[in-house]
Amino acid sequence: PASKLPRVGTTIFTVMSQLAAEHQAVNLGQGFPDFAVPARLVDELDKTMRAGHNQYPPMTGIPALRQAIADKTGRCYGWRPDVDAGITVTSGASEAIFDAVHAVVHPGEEVIVLDPCYDCYEPAIELAGARAMHVPLDPLTFAPDWGLVRAAITAKTRMLLINSPHNPSGAMLDAGDMAAIADLLRGTGIFLLSDEVYEHIVFDGARHESVLRYPELRERAFVVSSFGKTYHCTGWKLGYCIAPPALSAEFRKVHQYNTFCSFAPAQHAFAAMIQAEPEHYEQLGAFYEAKRDRFREQLLSTRLKPLPVPGGYFQLVDYSAVSDLDDLAFCRWLTTEHGVAAIPLSPFYENPPPGQRLARLCFAKNEATLDAAIQRLRKL
Ligand code: PMP
Ligand code: GLN
Repeated sequence: PASKLPRVGTTIFTVMSQLAAEHQAVNLGQGFPDFAVPARLVDELDKTMRAGHNQYPPMTGIPALRQAIADKTGRCYGWRPDVDAGITVTSGASEAIFDAVHAVVHPGEEVIVLDPCYDCYEPAIELAGARAMHVPLDPLTFAPDWGLVRAAITAKTRMLLINSPHNPSGAMLDAGDMAAIADLLRGTGIFLLSDEVYEHIVFDGARHESVLRYPELRERAFVVSSFGKTYHCTGWKLGYCIAPPALSAEFRKVHQYNTFCSFAPAQHAFAAMIQAEPEHYEQLGAFYEAKRDRFREQLLSTRLKPLPVPGGYFQLVDYSAVSDLDDLAFCRWLTTEHGVAAIPLSPFYENPPPGQRLARLCFAKNEATLDAAIQRLRKL
């Protein structure tokens, strides 16, 4: 039978993690922390499973967790979503992105994505029978050119997908970008899907410009986040979507027949954790900023050139002083010959910029892991 996703292979994250394991490489490729989740969270999870919260939770998420998300959103962004009608708990941000696209995008329509972009966007769009229209970000700063986005809008455009802090670059949208998006979408029927999974990992005193801060934007938006990023537990796959009641209603139609509901014990654990320890997410930026600074300092003793990292937990490096290989070949070579796994950027593009020599390194790691990687990178 004809493939529904003819251009899709195994994700670069899986490919590089497998290669890293085969070659005992330090894995700075796939983005996941190698340190412990907060002790309180594990205790809460244990407690809640023993207390018997092991059956189907409500389809939309347990009320205590939706309440905690609403409170946290209010504290962070000055606006509190509707607990019952505006928040849906999902199995990771990935499910939320898939559900949001399928809730409102019809076959034959178009969704604008900004390249480079995270790899789960386009397959979700294609499976909805729609087309991803790729608009390039600036190849050096990864800033959007809203004029180019405007030029990409057609009568078929149904959604604009944004991601800040940005994977893979760490670039962040600012208040000017938010105003530009409002200008672009005003008077159109275009929805906004905002991937904010790195919302709490922002540096240098910057403010995360959540779409939820902006009334004009949030009334047409699906905003998704992930507990995996905020609580160092990417394998738990719990996230959520905040959207106005009418959009949440459509979103839930997809969610209820996709997964129906998400891992109950973790919902109880996060509800307790968010309320008891707001310091955890409040201090996450500082926690990762120290890692970023130390890692960048160490990179100066290698021939890799670090690019700025405003947010997120990925460091882009320019390797042109080391090698003229294309990025896929370079990352394979780095893994197999030098024992450090990295992620090439070209899989994040429809049309990778010719001659781009960038690789992505994840610094959500213990100091010992990063030190071991740096020792190897010094030999390049
Ligand atoms: N969006 C971005 C930008 C990501 O980096 C990730 C995690 N890799 C996701 C979405 C998916 O998050 P989750 O693991 O919660 O599905
Ligand atoms: N989001 C992770 C990254 O960017 C990968 C998640 C996955 O492997 N699907 O590295």
